[in-house]
Parts: sequence; structure tokens; C-alpha cells
Amino acid sequence: MGSDPKLDVAVVGAGPVGAVTAALCARNGRRVEIFEARPVPATDARTLALSHASRELIESAGGWPRAGVTAIDTIHVSQRGAPGRTLLSAADQRLPALGYTVSFGALALALAEGLGRSGVAVHYGAACEGVSLDAQGATVRFASGAEARARLLVLADGGANAGKIPGIAFEEKDYGQVAVVARVSADRSHEGRAYERFTPQGPVALLPVEGRYALVYTARPREAARLVDLDDAAFLATLQEHFGDRAGRFTAVEGRASFPLRLRAINVPVALRTAIVGNAAQALHPIAGQGLNLGLRDAATLAELVQPAPEDAIGAPAMLQAYAAARRGDASRGIAFTDFLASVFAEGSLAPSWGRGPRSFSALQFIGRMR
Ligand SMILES: Cc1cc2nc3c(=O)[nH]c(=O)nc-3n(C[C@H](O)[C@H](O)[C@H](O)COP(=O)(O)OP(=O)(O)OC[C@H]3O[C@@H](n4cnc5c(N)ncnc54)[C@H](O)[C@@H]3O)c2cc1C
Repeated sequence: MGSDPKLDVAVVGAGPVGAVTAALCARNGRRVEIFEARPVPATDARTLALSHASRELIESAGGWPRAGVTAIDTIHVSQRGAPGRTLLSAADQRLPALGYTVSFGALALALAEGLGRSGVAVHYGAACEGVSLDAQGATVRFASGAEARARLLVLADGGANAGKIPGIAFEEKDYGQVAVVARVSADRSHEGRAYERFTPQGPVALLPVEGRYALVYTARPREAARLVDLDDAAFLATLQEHFGDRAGRFTAVEGRASFPLRLRAINVPVALRTAIVGNAAQALHPIAGQGLNLGLRDAATLAELVQPAPEDAIGAPAMLQAYAAARRGDASRGIAFTDFLASVFAEGSLAPSWGRGPRSFSALQFIGRMR
């Protein structure tokens, strides 16, 4: 049996979901600390498309960036080899914006500043090496030899440690695709328009980010490696040929990076004294821009249970069961929908008519529908 926990909540991982979970759980005088393996907040080439509801949640956690955010006002959806297109607009959906783009690094920094203001201690350079769980609490062991003990352990480490927790198993699926991301400029201003184009090689998305676009170009691994290695002029020519000219002529590219695309989901998001959130619970293909939006809803749900609870209820079986039950439907729908899109588009087998007409739908439009 372990000692009396010093903390109410120990969050492992200061990615966006861990940071929001910690900030929200710390309300009501909860003793919350967060432990992050990196020495400083993350910088990352990826651009995130977030729903309006996610923005509101991040704002309530005190971490929405003051600069570098671009509203998505319209989404243009097309399919290679098929005529026509679908145009979705914020005005039609009666929303202030269909979503927002923000760089991963800017969000990480703003969330770190927000955590500083909220009084949550963030321990950088604290890599969790293992956990011990007992009926009273969770003990987290760090590479330095130090330990932290809490009533509730929140695993928000993107999946690094969940496999070490008794009872947690993973389902994994490799889509055999890689996302090549980059910033590209065009000779025509974007005016808040995002583009999504479905091709037999996989989807391509252009998201408006300040004066240019964030590109997500999915391709088979060998082609993705070639795309990353091309010189700028050859890359721009390949992109132009692949995407067409609906966004204008591409004039510059920088910051190419690649991310392998796979689905990884756990069987159940709780264990003794442990709740699992964000990518640690489900890591999705970015085709529908779902991953962080879904993870933030994990954070909100858990915080809603932790904030009003008496101290001795934090991390107790009733709270963990309530968290698992509340997240089951949303998580399964997000996983199933994203997997369906990723699988059909990866195979290039989607019927062309899906990209057109009043009943067509887009993966990105999902962002605007998420409340
Ligand atoms: C190319 C690409 C584009 C994407 N686009 C979108 C999008 O448009 N919209 C969207 O909603 N989602 C998108 N996603 C998904 C989104 O990036 C993730 O869902 C999100 O980053 C998950 O956040 P997280 O905090 O759960 O995990 P992570 O961001 O993975 O953070 C985990 C943190 O835990 C830390 N950590 C790891 N191991 C340890 C350890 N042992 N001890 C302590 N700390 C540890 C890591 O250093 C990291 O800081 C995209 C993903 C990719 C790859």
C-alpha cells in the first residue's frame, strides 16, 4: 500500500491535451502538477485545424495564442478526376468561423504561459519511466530517480506509457501513408479558404495560415520520402500538378517535414487511479482534423468530474468509470469515422460523386460541425 498522495492530479505529458487537462483540473484549489519529458515547450512543423468549440475550451484554459491564428471561413472540397466541387461556408452554418488554424508551436507556448498564470507547476525534463498503482494513489517514477504521488494519474504522453499499465491494450493500424507537411505560398490570397482535394494517392489539404497555407500532402512512404527530398522548385511543380490551380500558382515552400500515419487506440481509457487522455488514448490519421479536437473533449470531460469532487473522490473507481462511460461514444465515433475516411481514401476507392453535390461531405467540414 502506498503513502498518502501529495498531489490530487499528476499529469504526465505537457502536450496540448495534458496542458488543458492540468489547467482545467487545477480550478477549485486542486493540487495539480504536470511532468514533461522535453526540456522546453514543443516546437513542431504541424499546423492544427481546430473547431470553434476547441477554441473556446483552450481559451477557458488560458492558453489561446494571441497571434498566429487564422479563421477558416470557407472550405473548398474537390476530387481529382471528377468535375465539380463543394463549398462550405461559416455563414451558411451560422458560425463565426468553420474553424481556426494555429501552429502547434504557438499553441504549445501559449498553453505553457497559461499554465504559468494558473499556478500549475510544470516540470520540464521530467521523463516518466514507470508508474506504480495502488488503491490509494499512483506513483510516477522519473528518469532522475525522483517520484511524484497523486490520487489521480492522467496519462497525456501521446501513448508512451499506456502499454505499461495493467489492463491497457492497444489496437494499431498502419495506413501505409505518410503526411508531408510544409508551409506554401501562392500568388493568390487565400481569403480564409481551406482546400481539401481527394486523390487516388491520398488527400491533400491546404489550410490558410496568416498569409500562406499549411500543406498536408498524404502519400505512400516512398513517394513521401521523395517529396521531402525534392528541391523547392521541383516540389512546387509536383504539388501544382497534383493539386491543380484552384488556389493559384504555388510560389514558395518551406519547413517540409513528414509524419507516418497510423491509428492507435486503447481498449479502455482508465485503469486503477489512472485516466488516459488525448493521443495516449487515441491517435488518429489527421485526415479529418479530429485528433486534438477529440483529445480536448477528453480533457474537458475529466476536468468536469475532478473540479467539483471531494478530495477523496478524485481518482476513485466511481470517477474513473464515469469518465470512461462519458467518453466511450464520442471516442468510438471519432475513431470509426476517421478510420473509414483514411481507409477509403488511402485505397483511392471512394466513389467520385462523394466530392460533389448537396449531399457530399468533406473530412475538414467535420471541424465546423463539431460543437
Ligand atoms: C500532420 C498532423 C496534422 C494534424 N492535424 C490536426 C488537426 O488539424 N486538428 C486536430 O485536431 N488534430 C490534428 N493532429 C493531431 C494532433 O496533433 C494530436 O491529436 C495532438 O497533438 C494530441 O495532443 P496530446 O497532448 O494528446 O499528445 P502530444 O501532442 O503527442 O503530446 C504528448 C506529450 O507528452 C510528452 N511525453 C512523451 N513521453 C513522455 C514521458 N515518458 N514522460 C513525460 N512526458 C512525455 C511529449 O514530449 C509530448 O509533449 C494532427 C497530427 C499530425 C501528425
